[in-house]
Amino acid sequence: MHKAAQALILFICIALACTVISCRQKSTGGSAEKKLIVVASLFPLYDFARNIGKEKAEVVLLLPPGVEPHSYEPSTGDILKMHEADIFLFTGEAMEPWIGDIRKEIRGEKPLIVDTGRGIRMTGGHADSEGDDHDHGRQDPHIWLDFSNAEKMVDTILDGFVRADPSNKESYMQNAEAYTQRLQELDKQYSGSLASCKKRILIHGGHFAFGYLARRYNLQYLSAYQGFAPNAEPTPRNLIELVKKLRESKLQYLFYEELIVPRVAETIAQETGAGLLKLNGAHNVTKEELAQGVTFISLMEQNLENLRKGLECQGR
Ligand SMILES: [Zn+2]
Repeated sequence: MHKAAQALILFICIALACTVISCRQKSTGGSAEKKLIVVASLFPLYDFARNIGKEKAEVVLLLPPGVEPHSYEPSTGDILKMHEADIFLFTGEAMEPWIGDIRKEIRGEKPLIVDTGRGIRMTGGHADSEGDDHDHGRQDPHIWLDFSNAEKMVDTILDGFVRADPSNKESYMQNAEAYTQRLQELDKQYSGSLASCKKRILIHGGHFAFGYLARRYNLQYLSAYQGFAPNAEPTPRNLIELVKKLRESKLQYLFYEELIVPRVAETIAQETGAGLLKLNGAHNVTKEELAQGVTFISLMEQNLENLRKGLECQGR
């Protein structure tokens, strides 16, 4: 009698536990399949990974929304997030100089740490680095702003996905291929649109972020900050030079960057009477932009609109 009661209670417990588990599974979309957890340091990597993983991955952006990325360092909480991930994506040592410490910190099979800048030739950018002590290795880390590099980054991220989760290889490969095509279209749109501009000089009131982009589309590029990060103040000599160039080239617009107060760009605009247009380096996005669902490609399309206006490009 006692044993029968015990068996009944055990049975009820097991039945209840099963119900709870099946409810949980339903609440996560009805699938028991575990998602691949991917943590990405910067917005472009985050967006590339989202496009490769689609519904099979949960991609997390490490940078808090709106934070200026060059001066960012991971908090303890951020390091924990990396520990819990299957894959951690970063851009390169020039962009994330803290990666060396993280590598020491994270030892073991997880996460798979992927250097998305692998195999991409970085340039030194500009000749004059005066007053620029904060550059990391004097290499331009903004590799994603050359879309042929972005394609290589997508390949490297795909490789990481396949290594971490070989069972979904086909799906990741298909997604990556479709996304690569979109990057190629974007590149064509840029080269087509920017071929017909009256002005071929891009004057930027921000840090030296668009060297790769300017080079790819044969534009001359001058930035107020000589550094690869917005941390060293521009020298008066630089500003005078920029104002002179702007006037000489009869440019009606200059560009300013995202996420920081464009004080320098505003000063130049006031001095010259030029208008201001945003040129988004897409390092990171704001909370509002994230909520609106901006993508790397949508930011780049907006940039192209502004470049066409600022450089007086003809046709479409
Ligand atoms: Zn930058």
